[in-house]
Amino acid sequence: MKLSTKAIEILVTEIAGKDTLALVVLIKNKQHVSEFKIADKMKISVNQVRNMLYKLIDYNMVSFIRKKDKKKGWYIYYWTFNEARALEIFDRLLNLKIDKLNKMTELEQKEQYYSCQEDKLRFNQVEAMEHEFKCPECGQILKLEDNTQMIAKIKKRLEELTNKEEFYVQEREKRKPKQKKEEKKKVKKEKKTKKKEKKRKKLRIKKQLKTRKKPAIFKKRRQTLKKKKR
Ligand SMILES: [Zn+2]
Repeated sequence: MKLSTKAIEILVTEIAGKDTLALVVLIKNKQHVSEFKIADKMKISVNQVRNMLYKLIDYNMVSFIRKKDKKKGWYIYYWTFNEARALEIFDRLLNLKIDKLNKMTELEQKEQYYSCQEDKLRFNQVEAMEHEFKCPECGQILKLEDNTQMIAKIKKRLEELTNKEEFYVQEREKRKPKQKKEEKKKVKKEKKTKKKEKKRKKLRIKKQLKTRKKPAIFKKRRQTLKKKKR
C-alpha cells in the first residue's frame, strides 16, 4: 500500500513547508526524476529545487544519483522520494514535537514569567529576582506575564499534532496487515511442523516400547486382568 496523499501532505509540510509539498507530489511514485524536469514543471530554478530537497535529505526522505551531462559537462541530480523512510520518521518526528509541547505546557503552567515588552525579554521568577525585577536592557520594571493565551496556543498546536499522530497511526496500521498475515502464517506453519514432529516422536517411542520384549509374567497378568473386567 502506498502512503496516502494526506499522509504525505502532513509529513512534508511539517518538515519542509508547503512549497516542498508540491515538489514531493511531483516525484513520489517515480524514480530518479531529473531536477531540471522538476524545475521546469514547477516553474522555479534548479537551485530552488535543490534547496527544497535539501530540507528532506536531512531526514533521508529523498535520495539522489548524479550523472554528468556529456554536452554541458556538469552534473545533473536525479531524485527519488523514499516513502518507506517517510513513514518511519513520521512517527518519531511527531512524537518529538508532542513531547516538547507537553513539556512547554507544563513549564508554562508551573512557572511565572516576567517580561519587558519593549525588549521582548522574558524571565522566569528566579531570573527576574536576579535582575531585581528590572529589565537588564532598559531598566523598566518587569511585568508579571499572563500566559494563559500562550498556553492556549500551545494546547491548540498540541491537539493538531495529536490528530496528525492519530491519522498516522491508522495509516501505519493499514500498511501492516499484509506483513502480519504473512507472519501469522509462518508461525502457524512452524507450530504445525512442531506438532508433527512431536507426534512422530511419540509414535517412535511407542514402537520402540512395543518391539521391546516384555517378560512373560506381565503378559499373563494383563490377560487375567482383562478377563476379570469382563
Ligand atoms: Zn526592557
